[in-house]
Order: sequence, then C-alpha cells, then structure tokens
Amino acid sequence: MSIDQLEEECRGCCLCALHSTRRNLVFGAGSPSARLMFVGEAPGQVEDETGVPFTGPAGKLLDDMLLVMGLERTDVYIANILKCRPPQNRDPSPEEQEACIGWLRRQTALIRPKLIVCLGRIAAGRLIHGDFKITKEHGAFVEKKGVLMTAIYHPAALLRDERKLPETFEDLKRIERKLAELS
Ligand code: URA
Repeated sequence: MSIDQLEEECRGCCLCALHSTRRNLVFGAGSPSARLMFVGEAPGQVEDETGVPFTGPAGKLLDDMLLVMGLERTDVYIANILKCRPPQNRDPSPEEQEACIGWLRRQTALIRPKLIVCLGRIAAGRLIHGDFKITKEHGAFVEKKGVLMTAIYHPAALLRDERKLPETFEDLKRIERKLAELS
C-alpha cells in the first residue's frame, strides 16, 4: 500500500467524534521515503483549513528549525498524533489518541524513518513513554521497537517562551549529527 492509499482510507475514518467537527483531515505531508519524521500533537485552526500539518504560526518556526539542520519540508515527513482538530485546540484526550494512533503506526511502517522527532510533550508522552518530562528529557535519544526517537520543544511552546530557543538549537544540531551517523 502507498502512503496516498493510506490517506484515502483515513479519509473515511470515524473511530472518534472529531471527524464530524473537522473541516479537513490533516493526514501528513512530505517525502514518503524520508529518513527523518516529525510528529506533532494535532491540527490547529489553520491546519484544519489547509489540510496540511504545521501551516500556522508554529509551522513557520518549524520551517526555520528545519533550516537549522539544512533541511526543507520536502526532505522530511511531518504528521501528528491526531489527524483531526480538537475543538478550541484543547489537548487530545487519551481516548482520541488511542483511536487515532493506528494511522500513525501505519504511516511510520510505510515511511520507515531512521529517526522520529516528537514535537512537544503530547507526542513524546504517547510515543516515547507515558510520563515524559519535556523539560528534562528533550534532546535525548531512545530506541523503541527498533526505531530511534527523540523529542524537542513544540514550536508553539518556543513561540511562547523564546528562552527555550538556544537549547532547541543544540537539540537540532545533535539531531543533524545523529542523522549523518545513521546509515
Ligand atoms: N500543532 C501541532 O501539533 N500540529 C500541527 O499540525 C499544527 C500545530
């Protein structure tokens, strides 16, 4: 199955109630053979309108973060834990995450990235471990089920608190070096 076929299947998903309030499905975007995959939380208002992940203010910063590593969107794959927008941008509930996670698993199985970067605590808490502390654990590499993972601050958190930018710059440079090491 191709990533486009999986997206088509996902369009018919009604595993949780969010499909009925969304404007657009936000499945994922980028290279289907990317070595590096980013996973955010859930679509926001702008993404719900465009159908493309990280197209709002946080997305502009994510583009700059990619540039720090000498990358563009077309070099990586970007997805979210949830494919539909939670109303008022509330945190995704555990039930919504559980309902949606199968799509991300299938995306990951098709793309087979060398490294997955979780953007923020929600993605890290779901993909790395349940009580992930982003302030303490960001930038550390862990292997889970044969896939290397790390987490960095969510770009929206960086927009709220610029003091986190220098350590995020270091995290991004470490990710760039790690990716160069991986065959
Ligand atoms: N925040 C996210 O976590 N994902 C998006 O796609 C947009 C904003």
